[in-house]
Amino acid sequence: MTRRILIVEDTPTIARVQKHIAISAGYEADLATSLAETKAFLANNTYFCAIVDFILPDAPNGEAIHFTVNSDIPTIVMTGNLDNQTKETVEKYPIIDYVTKENKQAYQYLKKQLIRLPRNEFVKVLVVDDSKQTRNYVSSLLARHKYNVLEASDGLEALEVLKENPDISVIITDNEMPNMNGEDLCSEIRLQYSNDEKAIIGISSSNALHLSARFIKRGANDYLRKPFNAEEFYCRLSQNVDMLEYIATIKRQANSDYLTGLPNRRYFFEFTNKSLMRKAAREAKAGLAMIDVDHFKSINDNYGHDAGDDVLKALAQAFGAHFVGQLTARLGGEEFAIYFENETPEESLKLLEKFRRYLDEHSAGLTEHNIHFTVSIGFCFTCSSNVDSLIKEADIKLYDAKQSGRNKIVCR
Ligand code: GH3
Ligand code: MG
Ligand code: MG
Ligand code: MG
Repeated sequence: MTRRILIVEDTPTIARVQKHIAISAGYEADLATSLAETKAFLANNTYFCAIVDFILPDAPNGEAIHFTVNSDIPTIVMTGNLDNQTKETVEKYPIIDYVTKENKQAYQYLKKQLIRLPRNEFVKVLVVDDSKQTRNYVSSLLARHKYNVLEASDGLEALEVLKENPDISVIITDNEMPNMNGEDLCSEIRLQYSNDEKAIIGISSSNALHLSARFIKRGANDYLRKPFNAEEFYCRLSQNVDMLEYIATIKRQANSDYLTGLPNRRYFFEFTNKSLMRKAAREAKAGLAMIDVDHFKSINDNYGHDAGDDVLKALAQAFGAHFVGQLTARLGGEEFAIYFENETPEESLKLLEKFRRYLDEHSAGLTEHNIHFTVSIGFCFTCSSNVDSLIKEADIKLYDAKQSGRNKIVCR
């Protein structure tokens, strides 16, 4: 879905830069150069957000802001300079942000905001406060920036909401509340989630100077002292959300293979070893398949290394379609592994055989060079608390599969 943005700006050079920024941030842009045009656009379209110039020929004192805000459009105000009177006028409106045009970083900042805004719809924020009034205020600030907001009126209720919504990213919590206070809530959340999985922002009142430090010692990432203004609130919040996203990206990159996007060896070992430990405790078995492309070297030799890479990527895609409930990983080179956590050996072998046959019959259609390729598979099903022994056993069977003609599964 393309999002529409309304740009209100009477200076053509600035309008051009803003339009370029908006388009590169994924928006479709309409340009109004006066208040009259703004009204006309608003009457005929719906907008995801708007950038509004403070001074327009027919609206010299921020009057256009009134119209976008009243149409419930998240609005970013651009001002030439920010004298006290302008600031006062701007702050009267529930806008998203204001940006001063002279500032060198202004346009970079604007772009960041425009990219951030659609993403916020997918960021769940839990507001915890026993005062309905404060809760409403904080929630309205969040809604203005399009965050997905949930509420709870004390610590216990917050834990319930968190249990039902484990994808909540940020918890903003008051301290003084019945049943469970904010500090205790922090400790409870940290038993389950680390600082880089969920950010907690404590809200402390100005007469409790030590509370902010106590909040952080109990596991909060940040705090806000009441009363806070909207600008400070947004700065702290977006910094915390950015931090969570950076860490999630780094984790994802550290755990996946750069060529195929599949989980890598490191992640496979970490995941399977945890799962096997749990299983071994109740003497349960698990299945593991080692999969190796047949005569891959000659694919490289005949078609080139890039074509070999295409085969590996196509294979990874085929894994995705055939093994939905299982963990598949690239262990290295043209060698892959599949972990069967919950399947019987019969179910696992059925899936593997279907996959082997699919490649034998259809692999030529999966790459640009129509390369027909097959795989050999070694499968084992056993009880062990360590994935090394499963890999070793499956590897022996894979070797047998290669020795006895390739394009087959060996399991005993
Ligand atoms: P077999 O059927 O016995 O498995 O024969 P094979 O040729 O597949 O096995 P071999 O181990 O002799 O060769 C594997 C080749 O895979 C050698 C190596 O250059 C190539 N290879 C390893 N990683 C990559 C990669 O990321 N991309 C490409 N294109 N080739 C790779
Ligand atoms: Mg102007
Ligand atoms: Mg091979
Ligand atoms: Mg190999």
